[in-house]
Amino acid sequence: MPARSRAVVLREFRSPFEMESFEVPAPGEMAAIVDVEYAGICGTDVHLQNGRLPIPTPVVLGHEAVGRVAALGAGLTHDARGVPLAPGDAVSWLNNISCGRCRYCLVEQQPTLCVGSRRIYGINQRADAFPHLSGGWADSIYLQPGTVMVKLPDGVRPRDVIPLGCAGPTAVHGVLDEVEIRQGDVVVVQGSGPVGVAAAIYAQLGGAGKVIMVGGPADRLEQARRLGIAAVYIDVTDGSAAQDRAAAVRAETPDGLGADVVIECAGVPSAVAEGIDMCRPGAQYCVLGQYTDHGPTPLNPHLITRKQLRVHGSWGFSARHYITYISSLPRLIARFDLGSMLSEYPLEAADEAVTAVKAGAVMKAVLRPGPPRDVPAPEGVLA
Ligand SMILES: [Zn+2]
Ligand SMILES: [Zn+2]
Repeated sequence: MPARSRAVVLREFRSPFEMESFEVPAPGEMAAIVDVEYAGICGTDVHLQNGRLPIPTPVVLGHEAVGRVAALGAGLTHDARGVPLAPGDAVSWLNNISCGRCRYCLVEQQPTLCVGSRRIYGINQRADAFPHLSGGWADSIYLQPGTVMVKLPDGVRPRDVIPLGCAGPTAVHGVLDEVEIRQGDVVVVQGSGPVGVAAAIYAQLGGAGKVIMVGGPADRLEQARRLGIAAVYIDVTDGSAAQDRAAAVRAETPDGLGADVVIECAGVPSAVAEGIDMCRPGAQYCVLGQYTDHGPTPLNPHLITRKQLRVHGSWGFSARHYITYISSLPRLIARFDLGSMLSEYPLEAADEAVTAVKAGAVMKAVLRPGPPRDVPAPEGVLA
């Protein structure tokens, strides 16, 4: 087990990150130390750095990560599915630990709505309190007792887990759990960022007959096209009006009535009125992308009544969604070349990577902590 670990710390909002070094504690009972191999950067990290979400500082960021077990604390012998765990195993973990005591944890079975003290790695765990290493943007992370750890299935590498990052289990929740997709359904996905890509993938795996992606800009849609994640792509950045895009969607449905299911992954409030317009009578609409509060938006509620829409909301993900995500990876990587989405940065380039995410310049930025990997050692070099 390493003695110390570097970690990217957010000390002050709207300021560059600081690279700090922490002692790696020995894992307590039911805890684990994991050497991080990949840690994703998502849009939420941009909002965190900008101080748009109420979090304590200093904090080690990184709420989506994957790595290998360095040490297991007493009593921690199996992962959340009952698979034996040993040092060296490739593992991933649910990024939050719900309280397990509140009404939503115990009675409603909706831990994403936990109203107790929900701990989230890389978001609300202070870096100046034990165990310090509570975020993925670090060489090592301390996984606290109660963490849902999952050993990666055979044939799945750490690199395969990270392209979808937290977008993968977020989409599992919305697309496979909140919404009911029937075989052959026409499914519209609004948005072509990581959540949109993940939603389109799970719509396909869930049985959709045709997936229509409404997003932009053009190069991002082109990347999605190369991945084969939809059948039809509609660009929202080409100057078209919302009514024209809704008409284009209806023209893709067999009876011209509209889509069976529309999943909002755009994060833009105005997308909701447009998405409702794309629904056929009796359709389902799922608002999945409004993770940060961008304020109210005008919409015509008459359409919800007249079309008898079923409107769903979906917030984050719980253990069930995370395990479904990891379990789906063998099928998913056999069908989609998700590794092509990745732009890799060394841990010390976290600022540069977040700037690229902010600018929309990359599909998926990931940090690579630890010593340089995948680089063959130079032969015959004299010290
Ligand atoms: Zn995220
Ligand atoms: Zn709770």
